[in-house]
This record gives sequence, C-alpha cells and structure tokens, in this order.
Amino acid sequence: MSELKTIDSTYVANTYKRFPVEIVSGKGSVVYDPDGKSYIDMGSGIGVTSFGIADEAWQQAVTAQLGKVQHMSNLYYTEPCARLAQMLCERTGMKKVFFSNSGAEANECAIKTARKYAAEKKGAEYSTIITLKNSFHGRTVTTLAATGQEHYHELFQPLTPGFVHAAADDLEGLKQLAADNKTAAIMIECIQGEGGVVPLSPGFVQGLAAFAAQEDILLIVDEVQTGNGRTGELYAYMNYGIQPDIVSTAKGLGGGLPLGAALLGEKVEHTLGFGDHGSTFGGNPVCCAGAVSILSRMDRAFLDAVKEKSAYVFSALTDAPGVESVSGMGLMIGIKTVKPAAEVVQKCMENGVLCLTAKDKVRLLPALNIPMDTLAAAVEVIRSACV
Ligand SMILES: *Cc1c(COP(=O)(O)O)cnc(C)c1O
Repeated sequence: MSELKTIDSTYVANTYKRFPVEIVSGKGSVVYDPDGKSYIDMGSGIGVTSFGIADEAWQQAVTAQLGKVQHMSNLYYTEPCARLAQMLCERTGMKKVFFSNSGAEANECAIKTARKYAAEKKGAEYSTIITLKNSFHGRTVTTLAATGQEHYHELFQPLTPGFVHAAADDLEGLKQLAADNKTAAIMIECIQGEGGVVPLSPGFVQGLAAFAAQEDILLIVDEVQTGNGRTGELYAYMNYGIQPDIVSTAKGLGGGLPLGAALLGEKVEHTLGFGDHGSTFGGNPVCCAGAVSILSRMDRAFLDAVKEKSAYVFSALTDAPGVESVSGMGLMIGIKTVKPAAEVVQKCMENGVLCLTAKDKVRLLPALNIPMDTLAAAVEVIRSACV
C-alpha cells in the first residue's frame, strides 16, 4: 500500500483526495483490501455499481458482449445500443436517446439540444439556461457554468456564457429570471446530490414544470445521480408527477462501466440531426449490454424493495444520538451529524464501512440490491460513529 500510494501520488494528477484504502476485490456490497480486511460499501463508486461489485448477471452480459464485439463506432449498428434505447424510451415515455460516456457529456447533449430547439423556434438569442443555486451538473467548461456553486468556478474563467442561477424552491424568483433573460431551458436535479442531498419541494418542481410548459421553455432534469432506480422510482422525476422534455443520466446506468444518456422527449425528438452531435465511445456495446442487464431487472418489486430499505435507514438514523437530520429519497441519503461529517466517515472506515460525504453531510449511496442484513450492519456502524 505505501508503495502504491507513492506511485499514485507521483504519477496521478492531484485532483482526488483519496482515502488510505486500496480495494482489490469484492462481491455485492462487500469489498476487500489486500490484507483481506472487508468493508461494507455504502458508496457504490458514487452511485455507479447499481447491483454491487461483480454482480453475476451483469458480468455475464458484459463478458458475453466482450467476446463478440467490444466496439464498432457509431457508424454501424450494434444490438445492445438499440435495445437499451428502446428500453429507456418504453419505460419513460421519452422518444429518443443519445448515448455518451459520462454525466457531464449527457448534460452537454441536453444543453446543445435545448439551445438548438430554442434557436429554431424562437431565435438564436433565446439561449439562456436557468439552473439552480447549489446545483451540480459536471466538470466540463459548460457544465461548470451550469453548476450553481461559485467555488467550482474560481480560476477557470471564462466559462460558457448563458447560464443564470435561481434559488431552489423560489418559484417567483425563477419566473423573474425567465422574464429577464431570453430563456431556452430550465435545468434541475430533483434532489441536489453534491449540494448535500437536498430534495426540491414537490410544489416548486410542479410549479416550474407547469411554467416551463406554458412558456415553451424546455425542462431538463439532470438524473445523473438520482436516476436508474436510486430513489425507488426508475427516475426521480417520477416521484414528482412531471414529464421533463430532456432527461440526462449516467452514474448507475451502466452498472460500473462508463455510460451516459440524454433522453429526448416529444418536443425535441427531431431537434438533433445528422452531424449535430456525436461521441466516439458513446453507446459502446459492452457498456450498453451491461446497462440492459441492469435496467431489465429494475421492475416494480425491485424498486419497492429500494423504498423499503430506504424507510429502514431513515427510521434507524432519524433522531439517533449525534444525528441532527436525515435527508434524501430512496437509497440516496444525507445525514447531518453533530460531529463533522469527515470525522464520522473516518470512524466508519476504521470499523469497516465506506461512506461518502456531500457538503457537510455523510452521504450514503449503497448498491440498490444491498441485502437487508448487510445494510443493517452498516447502519449500526454508522450510528455508533455518530456519537
Ligand atoms: C456526478 C454528476 C454529474 C457529472 O457526472 P460525470 O459522469 O462525473 O461527468 C452531473 N450531474 C450530477 C447531478 C451528478 O451527480
């Protein structure tokens, strides 16, 4: 470990503050370091390994495709890409899918699509995208501009112009921004993830959806973190009774391989034409085969089980000693602790549980199929780390 740490810190760019843990293997929600010490994984690679580590059906789907064709480019047809797009549309009512490799790229597609739609329909000056304060939409120069947190922007100016930020849960303020700017789209996360696991209120989301529809302003919902079963519905917007015009997603979609998607609704179904957008790796058949395996198992019973596990975590941690509050939805949970979150996470790690943080909270994003007894064991460790 100390040699690996030296090599890593010498040669890997210094952008990540890693925990002093190396993981060499795992199964489901349990991972192992080189000495055989086990950890319950309550982060699932930041909400990526939806069915945990080395899930057998997923592995089989991926390796079967790997044994056929690993990549052909988007100049040719491959089956997993088409099947996955069909599955995504049939389960959401969206009409078309553009595949990318990451969440930021899914948002780039959403933004380009919204700007083209507005340019054709209302004029090129209708280019503003309203996003929310405290949001997170990615690390590219454009998705940083979309991200409503100043500290990510510093030293990277100038960012892509045309983004303004409204306060979450202030519908009148958002309407005023739309009146002051020629607006193409409003982009939201239903639950602000990196912003501290903060769900938007249903009244605000429904109000802005109705306002956007009335003004022919597109509604983009960033489901990069909240999507693919995370909240106990296939996509978080489904908890709010709205229908977005564009949904971006990534993280948990591929079950551990890089895959993002922008789902395009009726209004923008035909907005992108030949040559308007593209990606060399997007829609890679191996990644898509894994995603088909993941999505095809997220039926109602599976999603209801996510809700049950969520209810268990909420009831076990709300009002627990050292816990101020618990926020989130499904298995996307933020815990405001009396002690600093980093200290709680450190204590959990020592006791064999890997947790994340978001702002000043401990954040949990376990695999959605985490067994109940494993979840209970992790919650016990977290409870004792909070006091
Ligand atoms: C993680 C995240 C992104 C960025 O995804 P990448 O795959 O890291 O580019 C964008 N939006 C939200 C809401 C996210 O949680």
